[in-house]
Amino acid sequence: MKIAVYPGSFDPVTDGHIDIIDRAAKMFDTVYVAVIVNPSKLPAFSIEDRVSMLREALKGRKKIIVESFDGLLVEYVDRVKATAIVRGLRAVSDFDYEFQMALTNRKLDPKVETIFMMTDYRYSYLSSSLVKEIARLGGKVGELVPRTVGKYLSKLKEREE
Ligand code: ADP
Repeated sequence: MKIAVYPGSFDPVTDGHIDIIDRAAKMFDTVYVAVIVNPSKLPAFSIEDRVSMLREALKGRKKIIVESFDGLLVEYVDRVKATAIVRGLRAVSDFDYEFQMALTNRKLDPKVETIFMMTDYRYSYLSSSLVKEIARLGGKVGELVPRTVGKYLSKLKEREE
Protein backbone atom coordinates (compact mmCIF):
# COMPACT_ATOMS: atom_id res chain seq x y z
CA MET A 1 0.00 0.00 0.00
CA LYS A 2 1.43 3.36 -1.03
CA ILE A 3 0.02 6.13 1.11
CA ALA A 4 0.53 9.90 0.79
CA VAL A 5 -0.49 12.92 2.82
CA TYR A 6 -1.48 16.21 1.14
CA PRO A 7 -1.44 18.83 3.90
CA GLY A 8 -2.69 22.40 3.68
CA SER A 9 -4.96 25.05 5.11
CA PHE A 10 -7.55 24.71 2.29
CA ASP A 11 -9.14 28.04 3.26
CA PRO A 12 -11.11 27.27 1.05
CA VAL A 13 -10.32 24.34 -1.25
CA THR A 14 -9.92 25.46 -4.90
CA ASP A 15 -9.92 23.68 -8.25
CA GLY A 16 -6.10 23.87 -8.10
CA HIS A 17 -6.09 21.73 -4.93
CA ILE A 18 -8.58 19.24 -6.41
CA ASP A 19 -6.36 18.84 -9.48
CA ILE A 20 -3.33 18.01 -7.28
CA ILE A 21 -5.44 15.54 -5.22
CA ASP A 22 -6.73 13.73 -8.32
CA ARG A 23 -3.25 13.51 -9.81
CA ALA A 24 -1.78 12.25 -6.51
CA ALA A 25 -4.52 9.59 -6.36
CA LYS A 26 -3.17 8.16 -9.62
CA MET A 27 0.22 7.61 -7.97
CA PHE A 28 -0.87 6.41 -4.52
CA ASP A 29 -3.35 3.83 -3.19
CA THR A 30 -4.61 6.25 -0.55
CA VAL A 31 -4.25 10.02 -0.24
CA TYR A 32 -4.97 11.64 3.12
CA VAL A 33 -5.95 15.26 2.65
CA ALA A 34 -4.87 16.72 5.99
CA VAL A 35 -6.40 20.05 6.94
CA ILE A 36 -4.16 21.98 9.31
CA VAL A 37 -6.22 23.16 12.30
CA ASN A 38 -4.27 26.33 13.07
CA PRO A 39 -2.09 27.42 10.17
CA SER A 40 0.07 30.50 10.72
CA LYS A 41 -2.17 32.32 8.25
CA LEU A 42 -5.32 33.14 10.25
CA PRO A 43 -8.04 31.13 8.45
CA ALA A 44 -11.32 32.74 7.34
CA PHE A 45 -13.19 29.43 7.64
CA SER A 46 -13.43 27.20 10.71
CA ILE A 47 -11.71 23.84 10.69
CA GLU A 48 -15.16 22.15 10.48
CA ASP A 49 -16.09 24.17 7.38
CA ARG A 50 -12.73 23.57 5.69
CA VAL A 51 -13.07 19.81 6.24
CA SER A 52 -16.74 19.77 5.10
CA MET A 53 -15.95 21.72 1.93
CA LEU A 54 -13.29 19.16 0.98
CA ARG A 55 -15.47 16.16 1.87
CA GLU A 56 -18.38 17.51 -0.18
CA ALA A 57 -16.14 18.33 -3.14
CA LEU A 58 -14.43 14.92 -3.06
CA LYS A 59 -17.55 12.82 -2.45
CA GLY A 60 -17.34 9.50 -4.28
CA ARG A 61 -13.54 9.50 -4.67
CA LYS A 62 -12.69 6.22 -2.94
CA LYS A 63 -8.94 6.64 -2.49
CA ILE A 64 -9.22 9.98 -0.70
CA ILE A 65 -9.62 10.48 3.04
CA VAL A 66 -10.13 14.00 4.45
CA GLU A 67 -9.12 14.63 8.07
CA SER A 68 -8.07 17.54 10.23
CA PHE A 69 -4.79 17.50 12.08
CA ASP A 70 -2.96 19.51 14.67
CA GLY A 71 0.67 19.20 15.66
CA LEU A 72 3.71 17.97 13.81
CA LEU A 73 3.11 16.90 10.23
CA VAL A 74 5.72 14.11 10.32
CA GLU A 75 3.95 12.56 13.31
CA TYR A 76 0.65 12.57 11.43
CA VAL A 77 2.38 11.05 8.39
CA ASP A 78 3.78 8.30 10.59
CA ARG A 79 0.41 7.66 12.27
CA VAL A 80 -1.41 7.07 8.96
CA LYS A 81 1.55 4.97 7.69
CA ALA A 82 2.29 7.27 4.76
CA THR A 83 5.67 7.47 3.07
CA ALA A 84 5.23 10.73 1.19
CA ILE A 85 4.03 14.30 1.63
CA VAL A 86 2.54 15.83 -1.52
CA ARG A 87 2.72 19.59 -2.13
CA GLY A 88 1.74 21.70 -5.12
CA LEU A 89 3.98 24.29 -6.75
CA ARG A 90 2.71 27.26 -8.69
CA ALA A 91 5.26 30.01 -9.17
CA VAL A 92 8.84 30.53 -8.08
CA SER A 93 7.37 32.42 -5.13
CA ASP A 94 6.14 29.10 -3.65
CA PHE A 95 9.62 27.62 -3.83
CA ASP A 96 11.46 29.20 -0.86
CA TYR A 97 8.82 28.24 1.69
CA GLU A 98 8.28 24.76 0.26
CA PHE A 99 12.04 24.10 0.11
CA GLN A 100 12.42 25.07 3.77
CA MET A 101 9.44 22.91 4.84
CA ALA A 102 10.61 19.88 2.87
CA LEU A 103 14.13 20.06 4.34
CA THR A 104 12.77 20.58 7.85
CA ASN A 105 10.44 17.60 7.56
CA ARG A 106 13.27 15.45 6.21
CA LYS A 107 15.41 16.50 9.17
CA LEU A 108 12.60 15.55 11.57
CA ASP A 109 11.96 12.23 9.85
CA PRO A 110 14.37 11.05 7.11
CA LYS A 111 11.94 8.28 6.04
CA VAL A 112 9.41 10.79 4.72
CA GLU A 113 9.84 12.07 1.17
CA THR A 114 8.20 15.29 -0.05
CA ILE A 115 6.89 15.13 -3.60
CA PHE A 116 6.15 18.32 -5.54
CA MET A 117 3.56 18.40 -8.26
CA MET A 118 3.59 21.26 -10.73
CA THR A 119 0.29 23.07 -11.03
CA ASP A 120 -1.75 22.71 -14.18
CA TYR A 121 -1.45 25.87 -16.32
CA ARG A 122 -5.20 26.45 -15.81
CA TYR A 123 -4.64 26.92 -12.06
CA SER A 124 -1.21 28.52 -11.93
CA TYR A 125 -2.62 31.88 -10.78
CA LEU A 126 -5.23 30.38 -8.45
CA SER A 127 -5.01 30.65 -4.66
CA SER A 128 -7.42 30.49 -1.72
CA SER A 129 -6.73 34.16 -0.93
CA LEU A 130 -7.63 35.21 -4.47
CA VAL A 131 -10.91 33.29 -4.23
CA LYS A 132 -11.80 34.94 -0.90
CA GLU A 133 -10.98 38.37 -2.30
CA ILE A 134 -13.24 37.85 -5.33
CA ALA A 135 -16.08 36.48 -3.16
CA ARG A 136 -15.85 39.41 -0.74
CA LEU A 137 -16.14 41.81 -3.67
CA GLY A 138 -19.17 39.94 -4.98
CA GLY A 139 -17.47 38.42 -8.04
CA LYS A 140 -18.17 35.01 -9.58
CA VAL A 141 -16.03 32.15 -8.29
CA GLY A 142 -17.82 29.35 -10.19
CA GLU A 143 -14.83 28.45 -12.34
CA LEU A 144 -12.30 28.62 -9.51
CA VAL A 145 -13.72 26.39 -6.79
CA PRO A 146 -15.79 23.19 -6.62
CA ARG A 147 -19.54 23.86 -6.95
CA THR A 148 -20.17 22.88 -3.32
CA VAL A 149 -17.87 25.65 -2.02
CA GLY A 150 -20.10 28.44 -3.39
CA LYS A 151 -22.50 28.47 -0.44
CA TYR A 152 -19.65 28.74 2.11
CA LEU A 153 -18.25 31.74 0.23
CA SER A 154 -21.66 33.46 0.22
CA LYS A 155 -21.83 32.90 3.99
CA LEU A 156 -18.38 34.49 4.34
CA LYS A 157 -19.54 37.57 2.46
CA GLU A 158 -22.72 37.85 4.58
CA ARG A 159 -20.76 37.35 7.80
CA GLU A 160 -18.39 40.18 6.95
CA GLU A 161 -21.06 42.66 5.83
P1 ADP B 1 -0.66 26.04 3.04
O1 ADP B 1 -1.15 27.05 4.01
O2 ADP B 1 -0.11 24.81 3.69
O3 ADP B 1 0.24 26.58 1.97
P2 ADP B 1 -2.75 25.88 1.02
O4 ADP B 1 -4.13 25.38 1.21
O5 ADP B 1 -2.56 27.30 0.63
O6 ADP B 1 -1.99 25.51 2.36
O7 ADP B 1 -2.01 24.99 -0.07
C1 ADP B 1 -1.80 23.61 0.11
C2 ADP B 1 -0.87 23.12 -0.98
O8 ADP B 1 -1.50 23.23 -2.25
C3 ADP B 1 0.44 23.90 -1.11
O9 ADP B 1 1.48 23.00 -1.45
C4 ADP B 1 0.17 24.85 -2.24
O10 ADP B 1 1.36 25.25 -2.89
C5 ADP B 1 -0.70 23.99 -3.13
N1 ADP B 1 -1.56 24.78 -4.00
C6 ADP B 1 -2.37 25.80 -3.67
N2 ADP B 1 -3.02 26.30 -4.76
C7 ADP B 1 -2.58 25.57 -5.82
C8 ADP B 1 -2.83 25.60 -7.23
N3 ADP B 1 -3.65 26.51 -7.78
N4 ADP B 1 -2.18 24.70 -8.02
C9 ADP B 1 -1.33 23.81 -7.46
N5 ADP B 1 -1.04 23.74 -6.14
C10 ADP B 1 -1.65 24.60 -5.33
